[in-house]
Amino acid sequence: MIKRTIFSFILIASVQISKAQTFIQAYQDRANQISQTNINTYLQEFEALGVKRTGTTQNTNAFNWLKTKYTALGYTTADFFEHSWTASGYSSKNLIVTKTGTLYPNKFVIVCGHFDSINGPGTNDNGSGTSIILELARILKDIPTEYSIKFIHFSGEEQGLLGSSRYVSQVVNGTNPKMDIKVVVNLDQVGGLASKANTKLYHDKDQSNPSSNNAAAATAVQELANCTLLYSPLAVDFDPAESTDYVPFQQNGEIITGYWEYEGGYNNPYVHTANDLLINMDPVYVLNVGKSAVGSIQHFAVASTTTLAAEDSSISKKLESVKFYPNPAKNILNLKIDNSVKNFTFEMIDMNGNHILTSKDNSHQINISQLKPGVYLGTMTIENNKITKKIIIE
Ligand SMILES: [Zn+2]
Repeated sequence: MIKRTIFSFILIASVQISKAQTFIQAYQDRANQISQTNINTYLQEFEALGVKRTGTTQNTNAFNWLKTKYTALGYTTADFFEHSWTASGYSSKNLIVTKTGTLYPNKFVIVCGHFDSINGPGTNDNGSGTSIILELARILKDIPTEYSIKFIHFSGEEQGLLGSSRYVSQVVNGTNPKMDIKVVVNLDQVGGLASKANTKLYHDKDQSNPSSNNAAAATAVQELANCTLLYSPLAVDFDPAESTDYVPFQQNGEIITGYWEYEGGYNNPYVHTANDLLINMDPVYVLNVGKSAVGSIQHFAVASTTTLAAEDSSISKKLESVKFYPNPAKNILNLKIDNSVKNFTFEMIDMNGNHILTSKDNSHQINISQLKPGVYLGTMTIENNKITKKIIIE
């Protein structure tokens, strides 16, 4: 996604959680199941697939890679719909994977993002959204939701929303009555910048014609912001909904909203170039955006609120209290862990995914004097549960 327009928009100084929406521990526990290892692996594999320009072999390879991933997660061909389309001289396919709801099987929450790229591998635009959707599909696979969920990977976005517009005209409107959609949540370019702290997200607010859906979309974007504040460490701002795959849905009268990076955002120098690479983005930010997405899709699809086993919940609290300090660090890195944790493993990788060190002796101090200055990812594992944080070494 690239937004070309300079806009004037009233920025809301502080976004507050409306009282109607309450914190649900089960939603947080599932949000915490997002795995940094999985996100990094998806981003690396996506990048290795090359320039996924619509109509090329690389684009087809990326489509097949997605199908392989869903199959590995336990989805079957019965859950898949391959939507082939031709438009403006391009031919490609969208991948749609459907999870059926318990109460409203014929009403859909759509979570979508494009997998095609242009000029470069598009690891941020939009390997980031693609990786989060895969993690969502993994975490929610066996969780009952009242509404059905469609995980959709569009192609042809970079040539002018070709895949999503054909999906709306041929599939959404291809039946009588048309497909019943509760909300469309799009994830596009949520990778952040390696050089920034990346503590904030944009949520996209529908301000366009037709205006009949704008009030409902305003409610949806507020609920989305609430989920970010409730289930992720990120702060929130709003931007106008434009220039990505929810636009054809919006024009069809559907309720739409979306995710977009705040840092980078309007001024990302890498997007749509050969340098849209993992090394220039922030995979921890992708994880944090993913926490919001696991929260928000559970909210919109009304996921079961039955809490996980108490033991899992207590592990998740122990993981949340883990701190690596000081940060930035030099010579010695300290690990702060709940006193009740006697056994843990600490590992560090660099931003290229190379393994740097492993500590299994339960030491709370790590000697980092041999490491080159730079950005690393530290992962603490407690009873097979993991938390990853960014560590800067000076
Ligand atoms: Zn994009």
